[in-house]
Amino acid sequence: MSGYNKPLSHADAERFWSKVAKTDTCWIWSKVKLNGYGYISLQGKEYCAHRVSYEMSKGEIPRGVEIDHTCHNRACINPDHLRTATKKQNAENLPTLNPRNKSGARGVSFCKMTRKWVARVGHKGKPHIAGYFENVKDAEAAAIALRNRLFTHNNLDRGPAMNVRTTTRPIALPAPVDPNYRAPYLSRQDADTMYRAGLTLTEWQKLTDQQRADLRWRMGA
Ligand SMILES: [Zn+2]
Repeated sequence: MSGYNKPLSHADAERFWSKVAKTDTCWIWSKVKLNGYGYISLQGKEYCAHRVSYEMSKGEIPRGVEIDHTCHNRACINPDHLRTATKKQNAENLPTLNPRNKSGARGVSFCKMTRKWVARVGHKGKPHIAGYFENVKDAEAAAIALRNRLFTHNNLDRGPAMNVRTTTRPIALPAPVDPNYRAPYLSRQDADTMYRAGLTLTEWQKLTDQQRADLRWRMGA
């Protein structure tokens, strides 16, 4: 859906603003909402309300360019909360955690092999590892630092946040089923060697010390 990109008639402008509830921060589109976005019918066609608002105050949106909500409120049409973004930049500005995320922190997951929290950032199709950590807080800090280095549109990392962070889930290490079970300790080097050699943990455990040493040397871990 492209922008309207011409001045609204007096009647259309009146109708447009009658659907808006302005607050101190967001200007909320209070009527038609599809996927949370506001829509308005102008001259017989449907337009995204926030894009119309953007074009009214800032001019034409170039072809193929997305409009990003810095406030993460899709119903908001406040032009101060809108900016142009490429698809990639839009993805950098995630409002919520991936549903599969168990750590409560963006980019942080538990690595079963090393029994550590790993901080990861996906950037231009490649995973970047910020490191392995004993606790979520350190891993989160590392993930944020790396995103700030690689990304430009990751607002929530670049506080003061315009809205509340979504890290509210309780953080706990996954508990082993057997209370006496102790996960085998693997050094970072051994985990890397295993990974590079394409071995499972069971296969790794069956190796002799000599075989492991050989593999470490061959894999250059
Ligand atoms: Zn807003």
